[in-house]
Amino acid sequence: MHITVNRELCAGSGNCVVNAPEVFDQDDTEGLVLLRVTQPPADLEQPVELAAQLCPVGAIDVVREAIAR
Ligand code: SF4
Repeated sequence: MHITVNRELCAGSGNCVVNAPEVFDQDDTEGLVLLRVTQPPADLEQPVELAAQLCPVGAIDVVREAIAR
């Protein structure tokens, strides 16, 4: 899994931090999203998916890596 965030879209609601604090943070000045990690471990994938779904402005993109053959 690979995560990107769009800080220009972010509204600073903090939902992502509530759902996956190990992965998301907010800056101290504007409260906009910061990524703590871009490739979370498997046990954090579900909370990250939830955070992306619940972001009110769609600022979180999650790309699942293709399975190697
Ligand atoms: S949930 Fe979305 S809008 Fe809210 S802080 Fe996170 S990225 Fe920004």
